[in-house]
Amino acid sequence: RVLVGTKVDETHANWVTAYNMLTGIRVSVSRTNAKLDRKLTDADFEVKQKSTFDIAGNELVPSAKYDFKFKDYAPWVFRHLRALFRLDPADYLMSLTGKYILSELGSPGKSGSFFYFSRDYKYIIKTIHHAEHKFLRKVLKDYYQHVTDNPNTLLSQFYGLHRVKMPYSKKIHFVVMNNLFPPHRDIHQTFDLKGSTIGRDYKEDDLDTNPRATLKDLNWLRRKRHLELGMQKKQLFLAQLQKDVKLLQRLKIMDYSLLVGIHDCQRGNEEGLRGKTLRVFNPGGGAPEEFDPHSVLMRTPSKLENQRKARELRQMIKSERPVLMGETTSMPEELEEGQSRPGFIFNQDDGGFGATHEDNSPGDEIYYLGVIDCLTHYGIIKKLEHFWKGLSQDGSQISALPPQEYGDRFLNFISGITKSNEEAIREAQEKDAA
Ligand code: ATP
Ligand code: CA
Ligand code: CA
Repeated sequence: RVLVGTKVDETHANWVTAYNMLTGIRVSVSRTNAKLDRKLTDADFEVKQKSTFDIAGNELVPSAKYDFKFKDYAPWVFRHLRALFRLDPADYLMSLTGKYILSELGSPGKSGSFFYFSRDYKYIIKTIHHAEHKFLRKVLKDYYQHVTDNPNTLLSQFYGLHRVKMPYSKKIHFVVMNNLFPPHRDIHQTFDLKGSTIGRDYKEDDLDTNPRATLKDLNWLRRKRHLELGMQKKQLFLAQLQKDVKLLQRLKIMDYSLLVGIHDCQRGNEEGLRGKTLRVFNPGGGAPEEFDPHSVLMRTPSKLENQRKARELRQMIKSERPVLMGETTSMPEELEEGQSRPGFIFNQDDGGFGATHEDNSPGDEIYYLGVIDCLTHYGIIKKLEHFWKGLSQDGSQISALPPQEYGDRFLNFISGITKSNEEAIREAQEKDAA
């Protein structure tokens, strides 16, 4: 586990990167948004748009604090994807670049990818490997078609694909995607489920120091948990998951998981965002400042302030120039805004999917669900991994399985754990009787 260090130079490097990422997004997204909407063409999927930023600026690119190059991939496709996911274009830019504030999660996975939250926690920036980047471009048309046909898809929602390149450093590819978890609700438990048992265990002892850690398949099974859904919701959920997995199998993708965030309605929000740190990147220079987001959550959003920001943004889009970026000490006031996404089945209950009993009456939990990490192609590395692990362990249980089997095992596991409380009790009784 690589966590973000506290050394100033490391912090500094991330801050410049974050600044450049946000500047690139702001300029390229507003450039595309400023144009009249039109239908997509095949060529739109191949487009790479390059901009060079420097202190001087020019007629195409506003001046920036640092020298860097930025590439925007398939800007029109992502504009249409954002529309399919019903994002408001002005809100999107405002969340990401209204102020230059990102909260850094460091690198939670093994892959070395970095995660950043937008200041209102609605969006995640994830740095991805070159192979993942190439792969997303390759399957973008299939993904786009799938989202068009399945507005309720559980797959990660991709809103942008970009690259930033700073002098003397490597190219950094990144995607902007949805944060599955709501900014306004406590998530009491998180599970990352693959349907495999080997190596899928978070050490329970470590929970003492890290009570909000992401747990895995074995932790789930040990707790005898299930996704409590009555017949109707269970069917909706599994039907969509099947369609999504079918696409992943066809595209030979694997290693993805179902991310499950559980809000316990009995416990409510009492614990806030305690323990997390909101890192404010200071565009004026110097080290980032840190805040406790819990204290931010306590603030009520002011209408006036929001209106002022909206004005700022419109101006920003028009002039393609940064406005008021020096306000580093003010904190985001909008964390409390609900994340209602009307019309989306799996976000219908407080931004998530509420547990139900057999008779469809509401249960005590809200689930926030989605299939994440779905850009790993079953390539040569996985084949090797399969070979080596296959020599020593039970073949069907290792996580690097060919995509068809991986998807089947995944679906099988998830359908097995999706049942109403009543169903689970009956099953246990039958087992006892036998
Ligand atoms: P690895 O390849 O080692 O699994 P990775 O760097 O590709 O790691 P992911 O699997 O995409 O990372 O995500 C790691 C963790 O980050 C997840 O288990 C989850 O806790 C969190 N996370 C990832 N994507 C999201 C999302 N869209 N919303 C909320 N949390 C997320
Ligand atoms: Ca993963
Ligand atoms: Ca990964």
